[in-house]
Amino acid sequence: SDTILSVKDLKVSFDTYAGEVQAVRGVSFDLKKGEVLAIVGESGCGKSVTAQTIMRLTPTPPSRIKSGSILFDGDIEITKLSDRQMEHIRGSEMGMIFQDPMTSLNPTMTVGKQITEGLRKHQRITGDAANKRALELLNLVGISNPESRILQYPHELSGGMRQRVMIAISLACNPKLLIADEPTTALDVTIQAQIIDLMKKLSEQTQASIIIITHDLGVVAEMAQRVIVMYAGKVVEQGTVDEVFYNPQHPYTWGLLRSIPRLDEMGGGDLVPIPGTPPDLFAPPKGCAFAARCPYAMQVCLEEDPDHTKLTADHSAACWLLHPDAPKVERPVEAGG
Ligand code: SF4
Ligand code: MG
Repeated sequence: SDTILSVKDLKVSFDTYAGEVQAVRGVSFDLKKGEVLAIVGESGCGKSVTAQTIMRLTPTPPSRIKSGSILFDGDIEITKLSDRQMEHIRGSEMGMIFQDPMTSLNPTMTVGKQITEGLRKHQRITGDAANKRALELLNLVGISNPESRILQYPHELSGGMRQRVMIAISLACNPKLLIADEPTTALDVTIQAQIIDLMKKLSEQTQASIIIITHDLGVVAEMAQRVIVMYAGKVVEQGTVDEVFYNPQHPYTWGLLRSIPRLDEMGGGDLVPIPGTPPDLFAPPKGCAFAARCPYAMQVCLEEDPDHTKLTADHSAACWLLHPDAPKVERPVEAGG
């Protein structure tokens, strides 16, 4: 099969003192081998929780996979693995790149040690071979003088360099799946562009499939082949980047894209807030979750949550406007193309 990851109807909740927060409410998508998929949406839409759940990095409790399936590499059901099995998969088949490398790197360990630690643990290679691999990886992520860098500690490196080290660590075991959660948000603009260039290059060079979570649509345009738009714990639209950017079908996607000056310019694609706030995920509405902010909301939207309508083989959106009997509306978007 050419699918590396298949997520089906995933539901994840957090149990809090105030009740159950339904963070992810039935997310489904497939990721093909070698593909770069972007997940976009406002903060709190469930994109990070979805990604962390795929790697089983959300603490349980308070988080809980309520239902659904995460099938990895053919027949590995991630939701059913023991913590120990999962730790092995994370160390040998999946890599994660976080927003802030300073908090995810170990401040008391040299760069070299951090890169080789996982390798030695999960691949049982010798110290010499691991060191050699560490130097190779530092070269690969564009760090010069790797021989002296492996002896340094994270605080001796710049922010961009630390993120490169983080990427080297995530690539150490040749992962089949790489998840990057806002990998450039904590960096300044020039460094952001360099890290995105690096990730793009690596996605072409390695066979890894990549999920990139971002609020920057410029990054999506630059790196991804497919995109998922999430709102209030659900996927509201998904498709190829071209389809979703140039022929968006969901009013929330229209809102996201409306005020973007140029999608092909790095740094020019930040999401601009849409008026109103997302619904309370302690008590999500029974109808369409976007209805309270949607200029096109109809009675049916308040009563029933729309299913996805398939628009092309690779493009779908969940909106009543796509129903055959829905009123035709004026498109507000001229998003590029
Ligand atoms: Fe707007 Fe209704 Fe579509 Fe929801 S289903 S996005 S409320 S038109
Ligand atoms: Mg997040």
